[in-house]
Order: sequence, then structure tokens, then C-alpha cells
Amino acid sequence: MKPDQNGPKPSGASAVSGGSAVPGGSGAFAARLSVEQVEEGFALAPKFDAEGLIPCITTDAATGEVLMLGYMNGAALEKTIATGEAHYWSRSRQCLWRKGATSGLAQKVEEMRVDDDQDAIWLRVRVAGSGASCHVGYRSCFYRSVELGGQSGSLAGDSPGISSGISPGGPARLRLEESRKTFDPKAVYGDAPNPTQL
Ligand SMILES: [Zn+2]
Repeated sequence: MKPDQNGPKPSGASAVSGGSAVPGGSGAFAARLSVEQVEEGFALAPKFDAEGLIPCITTDAATGEVLMLGYMNGAALEKTIATGEAHYWSRSRQCLWRKGATSGLAQKVEEMRVDDDQDAIWLRVRVAGSGASCHVGYRSCFYRSVELGGQSGSLAGDSPGISSGISPGGPARLRLEESRKTFDPKAVYGDAPNPTQL
């Protein structure tokens, strides 16, 4: 176990700060032994869901813009840590996926954070090339907003779009928040199957 390199160690917490590796694991992650260790310790002890995945929110390191929500398995998390390049698990293709392998739009990780109970990852990245992260061609996967407010006029004046939110009996409306695509998906991905599944 390497000594912790970041931050002061709380006194008396040495027993939980290192953690012990997951039995049978590759040694990259600590076993989850106590709430105190998970919340206050200094060893990465990620909690994977029943499918072996952990969600990862990815933002632009410079602007803070949310770029995407992805999932990692243990291998993707390890690869990301080892290489400093974002790797995910593709749920649609069921494979390890180095972001940008096809498109060239790799994500260089400036910082990786884990949340309190270590069941979510946050990557702050710089994106290569056009700066886009979405296979549809936009910078962010969150290129549309959902119009809020169903009652016409009830919140009039608060925000443009609010009063035109939900049409009676119809689905909530979406509004485009990016003015243009940064690349042409057809040109980049060709005939590769679209990861969006119905
Ligand atoms: Zn996307």
C-alpha cells in the first residue's frame, strides 16, 4: 500500500486510511469495511452496483459544463486512473471503451473525485479535437433542456419558455441549448451502430 499522498491524515485514523485491498481483486481498490473508512478514509473503495458498474459524471475542467454521464466497471476505473484518459464501460456495446478511440475526442482527466459513499465518480476533463463529448455531435450530451411549468401563465415572466412548457395531454417539451453540432457524426462514425438504443 502506498502512503497517502494527498491531504492531512486525521489523527488516529491510520487504521482506516490505507484500507486493505479487495480479496481476489487487482489491488487497485480497497475493500469496504466500515462507514468511517468509506467516508473519511484515504483509500479508494468504490461501490459497484449489481451489474458491476459505477456512474461517472464528467464535466469540462475549464468551464464546469456537464458533458456526460457514463458508467465504469472496475477495469474502466483502473484504466482511467492508470492512464489519465477517461475510460468507460459501454452498456450498449458491452465493452470497455476508451473515450475518443473512434472519434479522436479523447478526454484527458485533470481531476478525478469520488463522492462521500464512494458510489459515484466525477471526472473533470479536457477534451481533444473539437471539444465535443457527445456522439450526436454536440459538446455536451445534455444539449437539450426540458421546459418547466405546465400551467400557461402561472409563472409568466419568470423565464422564457416556462409558460409554454407542457402542452395539455402531451409530453413535456425539449428545447435545444446548443446552437450547432461541432462535428458530423456520419463522417466520424460511418456505419457503426448507434449506441442509443430504444
Ligand atoms: Zn451524448
